[in-house]
Amino acid sequence: MIGAGALGSPVAAYLAGAGVGRLGILDDATVSAKDLHRQHLHFAPDHGVPKAHSAAAKLTYLNPEIVVEPYNVRFGADNAEGLLLDADLVIDCSNDPATEEIVNRSCCAAGRSFVAAAYGQRSGRVFSFVPGAGGCRVCAGQAGHGFTDVEDAPPDQPTWLGPLAGTVGSLQALVALDVLAHGRDSAWRGWTRIDLVEPGLYRQRLQPRSDCPYCG
Ligand SMILES: [Zn+2]
Repeated sequence: MIGAGALGSPVAAYLAGAGVGRLGILDDATVSAKDLHRQHLHFAPDHGVPKAHSAAAKLTYLNPEIVVEPYNVRFGADNAEGLLLDADLVIDCSNDPATEEIVNRSCCAAGRSFVAAAYGQRSGRVFSFVPGAGGCRVCAGQAGHGFTDVEDAPPDQPTWLGPLAGTVGSLQALVALDVLAHGRDSAWRGWTRIDLVEPGLYRQRLQPRSDCPYCG
């Protein structure tokens, strides 16, 4: 898992509760009071603690029978290959387009599945990729879904964004569990979008493009 914040908190809690046996949590930030309204694995006494360690402590309380490995590092192109090496599934909870681009490239190269999510002020979406069973994020971009497909969240996230982030994170956990359980047969491959302006839940599958430099 990349990120132990607003998306990572619900995702990690649901996976730990479901008994996913080994979770690696990557985050190089520390807990701050301004984030507590939407990052539910962290509490006021955790102020200043690395988020990866704060999250791992709560997840171990939640399910002492699983292994949780905290990594207080920033995920990037220079360490992606090594960090993803052992993973059955990569879950991008960074809400950062640049990170998602690296995740897409690295997972396509390594033949790993990933589930990425993003949220803005009025919408959110989850994207899942299983090698050989659908298009990647670059294919999606050519189909009209760019890496910045949700409107930018404001730098100081207002409290009302917390429930939207939690909703998208919960959906991301659902998709991640389904991909872990069913792989290429997951019903959630491709796009799932939550829209609060034209309220609804929209799903779309993607065919891989034969000319895609990453998954084709
Ligand atoms: Zn592709």
